[in-house]
Amino acid sequence: THFGFQTVPEEAKESLVKNVFSSVASSYDVMNDAMSLGVHRLWKDDYVSSLKPGRKGPMRCIDLAGGTGDIALRILDHARENYADRETTVDVVDINAEMLKEGYKRFKKTMYHNTPQVRFIESNAQALPEDVFPSNTYDLYTIAFGIRNCTSIPDVLNEAYRVLKPGATFTCLEFSKVNNPLLSMVYDQWSFQVIPIMGTVLAGDRDSYQYLVESIRRFPTQPEFAQMIADAGFATGGMHEGRGGAWRDLWGGIA
Ligand code: SAM
Repeated sequence: THFGFQTVPEEAKESLVKNVFSSVASSYDVMNDAMSLGVHRLWKDDYVSSLKPGRKGPMRCIDLAGGTGDIALRILDHARENYADRETTVDVVDINAEMLKEGYKRFKKTMYHNTPQVRFIESNAQALPEDVFPSNTYDLYTIAFGIRNCTSIPDVLNEAYRVLKPGATFTCLEFSKVNNPLLSMVYDQWSFQVIPIMGTVLAGDRDSYQYLVESIRRFPTQPEFAQMIADAGFATGGMHEGRGGAWRDLWGGIA
């Protein structure tokens, strides 16, 4: 691949990913909007509202690769706006201090700043320290557009299983495989032609955005990923799309 990820050892991959996100942190929000034409916001809204945080009472949530705080903020807003819940909490965890700083800055402008409802913790999703993240702790685990950047997906899933309470929920929002050939063609043009140019023009950083596009292409298909989740011990509700299934396609499988 572009960065030769296939040939570098695990630790080196991890530091490459760290460098990518350190370099994109300050421009991340603008680029996210540009790359997805703002659609990532709709996907995140859809993702969080489908989880109905707070519906059955206050929850302890953990948002992995939570950098920008996008998901955490939606969880807390959903619980407050729909269930008058101000006790749900989210631990925002990210391997990258620069990304966490962006999230912290965003939360500073909200009513959740300096409350027990949110914490920012720098840590690796693949090896959450037990003293900070004890087993059987959380009701809800979220990870949005983050798991594909981790060097070992099974390690992430095993840690998720460990920190979740029995009967709790693991969820993931991620770019995936487009099955419609026409949509796939347009999407390829967009990803490989337009996004790297946008990276250069808007962020002055073609390589990092090229990496982001390539990491999407290397990610397993929907059924393969569902199988990995099941292998970690989770009950997935069947290896198919739709209500009660393991996954739901957004925009023909783009997410
Ligand atoms: N969840 C946010 C969102 O949806 O806007 C940020 C997504 S961003 C594309 C991916 C994030 O994954 C980055 O903040 C990066 O630092 C983080 N990340 C990459 N590898 C990680 C790991 N092993 N553990 C925790 N976070 C990681």
